[in-house]
Amino acid sequence: MSKIIPYGRQEITQDDIQAVIETLQSDFLTQGPQIAAFEIAFATYVGSKYAIAVSNGTAALHLAVMALGIQEDEYVICTPITFAASINCVKYCGGQVLFADIDPETYLMDLESVKSVIKNNPDKKIRGIIPVDFAGRVPQLDSFRKFADEQQLWIIEDACHSPGGFFTDQNNQQQTAGNGLFAELSVFSFHPVKHIATGEGGMITTNDENLYQRLLTLRTHGITRNANIFENSVEFAIGNSVSTGEFPLWYMEMQELGYNYRITDFQAALGISQLKRAEQNLSKRRSIAQKYTNSLNSTPGIIHSSGLIEGHAYHLFILEVTDRKGLYDFLRKKGIYAQIHYIPVHLMPYYKKQGWKEGDLPHAENYYSRCISIPMFPSLKEDEIKTVISSIKEFYTN
Ligand SMILES: *Cc1c(COP(=O)(O)O)cnc(C)c1O
Repeated sequence: MSKIIPYGRQEITQDDIQAVIETLQSDFLTQGPQIAAFEIAFATYVGSKYAIAVSNGTAALHLAVMALGIQEDEYVICTPITFAASINCVKYCGGQVLFADIDPETYLMDLESVKSVIKNNPDKKIRGIIPVDFAGRVPQLDSFRKFADEQQLWIIEDACHSPGGFFTDQNNQQQTAGNGLFAELSVFSFHPVKHIATGEGGMITTNDENLYQRLLTLRTHGITRNANIFENSVEFAIGNSVSTGEFPLWYMEMQELGYNYRITDFQAALGISQLKRAEQNLSKRRSIAQKYTNSLNSTPGIIHSSGLIEGHAYHLFILEVTDRKGLYDFLRKKGIYAQIHYIPVHLMPYYKKQGWKEGDLPHAENYYSRCISIPMFPSLKEDEIKTVISSIKEFYTN
């Protein structure tokens, strides 16, 4: 069998390796200067005011929900076609989940479905919405924002698939994923299958200074060193009865329950190095999407595909096909490891035990029965793209 072609994989260059080595030889492996440098570079890239780097995308989601707040009897509206972490974050914080269905054209959370969920649940206290930039396509977040403002809901944008992606708003302006204008908080992941790889890693972006400060604290145990907000007295901090003076340098306060969700400096250094190639890699992804679209357009068996969409970041290229299992097995035998994104989260046994069942979200379930993600990553070679295309055609024409 020839070389395996996965659906996604990282690309590590000599520059990336050098950046990690230099940080390993520096004074700081963690809590050092690379983290703030990565945050500034990332905020600049997406166009947000602030960015907080964390240990992974799931931690980013957890802190995002914590910072915006949820009570036991409160609900958040989620989409079922995503990685489970997009929804689990609500449960981590003790909140309840409602699912909206997807738009069968875009595969994204359908705002109309969100509206009916709210209408059909007048007795429930709904606090927020978590739309996902699924596959790299950014939803019309301006419409989501307008609706959320009317309903007094917060928005967490799960942008794990879409760094560098954008949507065009109603004023014909291009709005980059995570730019802080439409969601209170946006969340990214740097897992190796995503656009920027740091091993494990995540980022939260925002334009809200209060949320930014709170997240910095939550990321590190709920501990603050900001003397302006200390709750205990200077006398207590100094440890004797001197009645005036400054807080001593050692003093810090744990004011609420936080976590250790820090990223390391060598991961941040890798992130900075990877980020330099982000635009270039995005255009490689777009060019692969163009080739797939052009070549597979009228192939029998293919019902719908990700297609060529402006602003799409192409984390995934998805086909909706007939005989998905047959195609999957056929590609697998040829060393092409396609993947399925996603099994609807509301039908995972954990969520089924909470009352969700088959038939609840017909568009999502119908999509799941036909979807397959074919290889999509910047270092995918020309001959590999050709192999993927010809193999799919071979399957459907024989
Ligand atoms: C990868 C991913 C996450 C979780 O990120 P991790 O860094 O793996 O914890 C969350 N949401 C979506 C949509 C993802 O693809």
